[in-house]
Amino acid sequence: MSRKNTTKIQNLIERAESEILPYFVEIDKIAFANQKKVLDAFQKHKISDSHFNYSTGYGYNDKGRDALDLVWADVFESEAAFVRPHIVSGTHAITIGLFGLLRPGDIMLSVTGRPYDTLTGVIGYNERGDDIGALTDFGIRYGQVELRDNKLDLNEIAGCLKDYEETEKIKVVFVQKSKGYKDRATISSREIGELVKLVKQVNPGIYIIVDNCYGEFVEEHEPAYYGADMIIGSLIKNPGGGIAEYGGYIAGTKNAVDLASYRLTSPLVGTEVGAMLGQTINIYKGLFFAPHVVAQSLKTACLAAYIYEKIGYEVSPKYYDERYDIIQTVKFNDESKLINFIRGIQSGSAIDSHVVPEPSDMPGYDNKIIMASGSFTQGSSIEISADAPIKPPYIAYMQGGLTYESGKLCLMKALEREDL
Ligand SMILES: *Cc1c(COP(=O)(O)O)cnc(C)c1O
Repeated sequence: MSRKNTTKIQNLIERAESEILPYFVEIDKIAFANQKKVLDAFQKHKISDSHFNYSTGYGYNDKGRDALDLVWADVFESEAAFVRPHIVSGTHAITIGLFGLLRPGDIMLSVTGRPYDTLTGVIGYNERGDDIGALTDFGIRYGQVELRDNKLDLNEIAGCLKDYEETEKIKVVFVQKSKGYKDRATISSREIGELVKLVKQVNPGIYIIVDNCYGEFVEEHEPAYYGADMIIGSLIKNPGGGIAEYGGYIAGTKNAVDLASYRLTSPLVGTEVGAMLGQTINIYKGLFFAPHVVAQSLKTACLAAYIYEKIGYEVSPKYYDERYDIIQTVKFNDESKLINFIRGIQSGSAIDSHVVPEPSDMPGYDNKIIMASGSFTQGSSIEISADAPIKPPYIAYMQGGLTYESGKLCLMKALEREDL
């Protein structure tokens, strides 16, 4: 890298930071409000040292686990919740939620278009062309409504609900809050609230399930606050705060959470078993850090948005946009530029900075994917990371950053590869 480039990068960053300061103030305000929710819940439930005890076997009377569920429910402004290391991923958590609520003959209606790639196999259409074990294999039907102008298409959704009113078979309306690997907008918690109103007017018995991955603590309120029946996410994303090493959660109404808990373990057994094997403290500690860590990742994303737009790429969201998830996209319109960016992010990570990412096939995904993931926890995407399907228009999806300082240094490494 030339000296000239170093100076240019430093100038770019300085200019960016003076322009984006007002947005950092907003991010800090939300982090403060969410931190207060977390602390209030810890204090209300009198969390103490004894809650961190190691449980084994069935895990009966694990008071740390039981209190964690109560804390989680309060923080996510819902009636009930469970959070468990036994949930292996976000996809697994969503699977538990869907299988918990849907019965043969029911319809699942996705209202944010085609769900996240890994869920297509859960619903029943995958690259192998079979649906063994999927929802459709159990006689559950599926329909979807596309977004319209990057918003929920409430008219079309209302039409679908009316069409099926007589049969009353739509049981689940499914919302993916975050854009995931798609070139679309992220849905705000408030907008989900409007959907809830509409659906409940037609039939209060329909469950609204939200794939909340990447959305936690980005806004002041979670979708459950606005009436979603179930919100679901992964602990190696936002709510684990970079501390929880695995696991997932489901929060929502007591009825919906109970039904999901029967799929988590067994009917009637629900949340009363499950040894935590020493993970409890990491989950509490991760939740404690999460609002702050999410703010760090949002600041990193905001900086990236400003800089990559300034150097000529289309970005989403823009640095001044309101954010509803932690994902920042940069459109490269060029395969080698995209790969270069991903490699730049990898080279600026704390772990495996010497590794050069290559595009490869991933289970559950249709295109080749290239990923920068130099994280302490494997695949953690609250740590700085960037992924991209290898297909036009060659969009990188960047997210995370445990600290703004390290996020910024990582971006500086990626910028060294640009012709400035
Ligand atoms: C990450 C993610 C998932 C799936 O989570 P995994 O932990 O990768 O299985 C589902 N939906 C969205 C929007 C996600 O970002």
